[in-house]
Amino acid sequence: MSAHPSIAEFAVAGDCLAVGGVALDRLAERVGSTPFFAYDRQLITSRVAYLRSVLPAAVKLSYAVKANPMPAVVQHLAGLVDALDVASALEMKVALDTPVPPSQVSFAGPGKTTAELTQAVAAGVTIEMESPNEARRLVEIGDRLGIRPRVALRVNPDFQVKGSGMRMGGGPQQFGVDVEEVPALLRSLAETDLDFLGFHVFAGSQNLHADILCEALSKNVALLLRLADACPSPVRYLNLGGGFGIPYFDQDRPLDLSPVGHTLGELVEGAIRPQLPDARVVIELGRYLVGEAGVYVTRIVDRKVSRGRVYLVVDGGLHHQLAASGNFGQVIRRNYPIVIGNRMRDTALESVSVVGCLCTPLDLLGDNVMLPHADVGDLVVIFQAGAYGLTASPTAFLGHPMPAEVLL
Ligand SMILES: *Cc1c(COP(=O)(O)O)cnc(C)c1O
Repeated sequence: MSAHPSIAEFAVAGDCLAVGGVALDRLAERVGSTPFFAYDRQLITSRVAYLRSVLPAAVKLSYAVKANPMPAVVQHLAGLVDALDVASALEMKVALDTPVPPSQVSFAGPGKTTAELTQAVAAGVTIEMESPNEARRLVEIGDRLGIRPRVALRVNPDFQVKGSGMRMGGGPQQFGVDVEEVPALLRSLAETDLDFLGFHVFAGSQNLHADILCEALSKNVALLLRLADACPSPVRYLNLGGGFGIPYFDQDRPLDLSPVGHTLGELVEGAIRPQLPDARVVIELGRYLVGEAGVYVTRIVDRKVSRGRVYLVVDGGLHHQLAASGNFGQVIRRNYPIVIGNRMRDTALESVSVVGCLCTPLDLLGDNVMLPHADVGDLVVIFQAGAYGLTASPTAFLGHPMPAEVLL
């Protein structure tokens, strides 16, 4: 059995998995408690370098902070990408604490409060408007502060992108403004004092199919070029979204990025440049940049056998890493890649179930997985924990302590 592609990215030192060059047993001592999340900065750096090598140089790269808002991670990415995308006032604060200029911070998401919008206008970030109501409130805020709000319009396309783990465009949506409503809204914006920069589309998350991503990019560009004709001012910003996925399960194949880079190159040179020479073209990615660079490390607190099945009970669970339990956007529960991090060279495997410490059957981290014989004190590592891990988990559930997070 060949290793899961993401596991292969981490080194093994002696019997231990290593994160950022530090063997896991030593890292656990350094952190001082389990469970914890560990992120490898070199893996993030090389992921961005790989993306840059495949995407056209003219395409700017934005990091969607919601995938992993740990301030140290955001700081690290701030030195690598061109822009940051945030979806709350707290994420905006983390982004504004980095050297990325406010003009290169975008703020998306439905339900932005007037308080959040006011902070965003005062900061000078680009606000991706999701509704006519939001546009009206921004006009009022701009008038009151005497600042021209920098805005773009999030468009809900009139087609759907298949193959996304989570669909966020096409059909009825709480996201963006339906494309057929956009021309009228643009006309009304022309009479306001909003600094209208351009458009944003984001069709969905966790897509592993290059052909579908290419088709979505082409359709989105065609749609936005049509809308550009109705704009009050020359389009200076085109955020084409992203949705690049990572492999979580055995049968998942990594996304083949080269056709995506090729398509983007053709779209930029052949379609966008000729019509919109001033447009800054942005791809916005969360999961793809950080997801594979993180692990969730737990310690076994009990080993028990129930009617022939071996259970490894760990000190963590779905309250820290909901996604690995299968309760975050999955239809059929499947196992995330999992290893005994201090027994990487053991070859005799047994079938076990790894369960968390919460008093609910939902807290299942590995269902009938093949692992080396492990016992109390051993370290269970779950991969693909760098994105939508701690940040997307119900940490208050059952009142256990928060895990540590480290960037190595
Ligand atoms: C969540 C989100 C992203 C990031 O999605 P990934 O699948 O993590 O890359 C990007 N843009 C917007 C608007 C989002 O809501």
